[in-house]
Amino acid sequence: MSPTNHQFRLAARPAGMPKREDWKYTEEPVPEPRDGELLVKVLYLSLDPAMRSWMNEGKSYIPPVGIGEVMRAAGVGRVVSSKHPGFSAGDHVLGVFGVQEYARSDGKGVTQVDPRIPLPVYLGVLGISGMTAYFGLLDIGKPNPGDTVVVSGAAGSVGMVAGQIAKLKGCRVVGIAGGPDKCRYLVEELGFDAAIDYKSEDVKKALRTHCPKGVDVYFDNVGGDILDAVLTQLARGARIIICGAISQYNNTGPAKGPANYMSLLVNRASMTGMVVFDYAPRYGEAAREMAGWMAQGKLKSREDIVQGLETFPDTLLKLFKGENTGKLVLQVARE
Ligand code: NAP
Repeated sequence: MSPTNHQFRLAARPAGMPKREDWKYTEEPVPEPRDGELLVKVLYLSLDPAMRSWMNEGKSYIPPVGIGEVMRAAGVGRVVSSKHPGFSAGDHVLGVFGVQEYARSDGKGVTQVDPRIPLPVYLGVLGISGMTAYFGLLDIGKPNPGDTVVVSGAAGSVGMVAGQIAKLKGCRVVGIAGGPDKCRYLVEELGFDAAIDYKSEDVKKALRTHCPKGVDVYFDNVGGDILDAVLTQLARGARIIICGAISQYNNTGPAKGPANYMSLLVNRASMTGMVVFDYAPRYGEAAREMAGWMAQGKLKSREDIVQGLETFPDTLLKLFKGENTGKLVLQVARE
């Protein structure tokens, strides 16, 4: 009997929070690579808030996942067989392999990784999350030593890296996150100067306390009310990085826009959207610098690893319920 490949295929476009029935759990024989292709056994998958927006119809920075298609996901795996000149069986690779156990690939967008580094790190600090934090903060936020940098979604995958890089650049860093455990983690383990628990504190008031000179850089992962609160506390010349708006991704209506945007005018401030893929030619530069910081103990990684492909629909929801700390990763198989 040929081995089986289990997959999650998109079955419906969700309204609001996705449900298990929005995907179909399917199985088919593991494919054989054709000439110029490789077959990858998927070991770890990256779970990203953006997966929710890929389920929607409509124009975005990337086409939506089609109904019936394997749900898109980045992952790390091991090449099991190859008819591609650039890859050999046994290589460890990073690519967009989809929510499935085996992926056949033509090698486009697939890169080799060094298995001496724990593989989930390639989905976190050394992956898209790290790249987003690095280029969003440094290229758009342009932090100067002594600046006050506020990061929302601060205990999540992108936020924890953005805040740590801001500390490395000599900034005062204030994180916004949900719950006392995450806030403690930010201050005690990652060295943030302060953390605001948006679930129990008045964010505007807390920002006034922790950012007495105003906010020079705001790295926004959540949008909505928190963005509006930060807008009221900007310093002159502030830079806001619009990285994401997770508080709005499951809205059935339009996203809630910022009411306090006139603060941009008053403070000669700017708000800039970023898409990490624009920085692809410079990923190597960022990865080298961040790997160096990690080796020197100046940048910490943290992955929240959940076992089992079949848990995918429930595990993805952890992002929207705030149940992850650090990079949420699905372990599909053991080596
Ligand atoms: P993450 O922060 O690891 O996980 C999501 C976190 O968002 C949750 O843990 C939760 O933390 C918080 N959250 C969920 N619902 C919320 C709400 N209603 N209000 C406030 N916070 C809420 O996810 P990530 O992968 O690092 O992504 C963070 C952001 O970056 C997302 O908006 C994502 O879309 C964006 N992103 C953008 C790019 C780009 O190129 N622009 C690339 C990658 C990611 P709490 O417990 O603190 O609520």
